[in-house]
Amino acid sequence: MLRPGATIGILGGGQLARMLASAGARLGLLSHIYSPVADDPAFDVCASRTLAEFSDEDALAKFAAAVDVVTYEFENVPAATAAFLETRARVRPNPRVLALTQDRLTEKEFVRDLGIETAPFASVEDAGALARAVARVGRPSILKTRRFGYDGKGQIFLRDGADLAVTFRALGGAPCILEGFVPFAREVSVVAARGENGEFRAYDVCENVHEHHILAVTTAPAKISGETAEAAVAIAQRIADAADYVGVLAVEMFVVEGSAGEQLVVNEIAPRVHNSGHWTLDGAVTSQFEQHMRAVAGWPLGSTRRHGRVEMRNLIGADAEKWRDILNEDGASLHLYGKKEARPGRKMGHVTRVFPEDA
Ligand code: AMP
Repeated sequence: MLRPGATIGILGGGQLARMLASAGARLGLLSHIYSPVADDPAFDVCASRTLAEFSDEDALAKFAAAVDVVTYEFENVPAATAAFLETRARVRPNPRVLALTQDRLTEKEFVRDLGIETAPFASVEDAGALARAVARVGRPSILKTRRFGYDGKGQIFLRDGADLAVTFRALGGAPCILEGFVPFAREVSVVAARGENGEFRAYDVCENVHEHHILAVTTAPAKISGETAEAAVAIAQRIADAADYVGVLAVEMFVVEGSAGEQLVVNEIAPRVHNSGHWTLDGAVTSQFEQHMRAVAGWPLGSTRRHGRVEMRNLIGADAEKWRDILNEDGASLHLYGKKEARPGRKMGHVTRVFPEDA
C-alpha cells in the first residue's frame, strides 16, 4: 500500500490523465505524466513530467525509477513500452489487459470465452475472408479494423449490396473483424473498479448517447430494469476478475429489447477510466478518477453512491465556447480540459448537472 506523498506514473497526457492527476492531488498523491505531446492537458496539473516518445528506453527507465507505480490513461500504450516498464516498476492494471483490448478480435474472443454475449463476429484478413465472414455473420454488419479504432474511426457499415472488395480496401487492407449489427434499444456502460485484493465496486449503470460516433451525453442511472442492471454489473465483475484487473475499467454494452425482455450484449472493454464515467466527478461520492488512484495505490476503494439523477454532456469542438453561459447556470458543473485548439470532434470539456432523484 502506497502512502500519501507517493508518486503515480501515468502514461499519456490527455484529459483522462489530467483528471486522474487532479484527483490524486486531492489525496496527497503526486502524479508524474509521461507523454510525447508537449501541449498535452495533463502537463498543466502534474507534479513532474517526462516529454518523450514511448519508445525512448532511457526516458522510460528514468520514469520507472522515479515513480511508485505506473498506470495509463489509454489502451494503445505500445506492448513493448508496457513490457519494458514491467521489468522495472509495478504496472497497474497489468499489461496483459492492454494486449487483450488493443485488438478487437482477441477482446471479443476473451468476452465470448467467459460465456458473455457479444455481437456475432468473424476475423477478416483479406477480401476473400470478408465474403466468408459475411456468409457467417450476415448483414447489416460492421467491418472494423482490429487495432487503433476509436470514436467510429476504422469502421464501415456493410449494407446489402455493398461491394466487399471496395469495402475492405477502404479500411486500408488492415486486419479486420466483421461484427453483426446489434439492433439495440440503448447503449449502457458499467464503470467499475477492482482493488489489489479483488474488492470490486461498480457505479450505477449509465446510459450513453453517441452523435457522429462520439459520446455526446451520459445519464445515470440507465433506464433499464433492476435485474438488467445487476446482470450488467455481474458481467463487468466477471471480466475484471478474469483479467486479474486492478484499477477502473468500463464495459460498454448494448441493451436489446426482445420478447424475452432486455438482453445485454458486450461491445467493448476500456481498461482505463472512461468518458461515460465523468459524471462521477460531481455525481458520486468517489469519482472514477479518485477510485482509479486508490486502486493502483493499493488503497481501499471508495463509495460509488450516486448523489442524484445525473447528466453529463461532452463539450465537443466549438461547444466549449458556451463556457460563460454554463458558468452562469445554477447547478451546472463545468470542466474544461485546457486544450489550446478547439478542432471539430475534439473533446474540449464536459458539463454535469445533478438533479434530485425523482425530478
Ligand atoms: P465502437 O468503436 O466499437 O465502440 O463502436 C462505436 C459505436 O458504433 C457504438 O457505440 C455503437 O453506437 C456503434 N456500433 C458499434 N458496433 C456495433 C454493432 N455491432 N451493432 C450496432 N452498433 C454498433
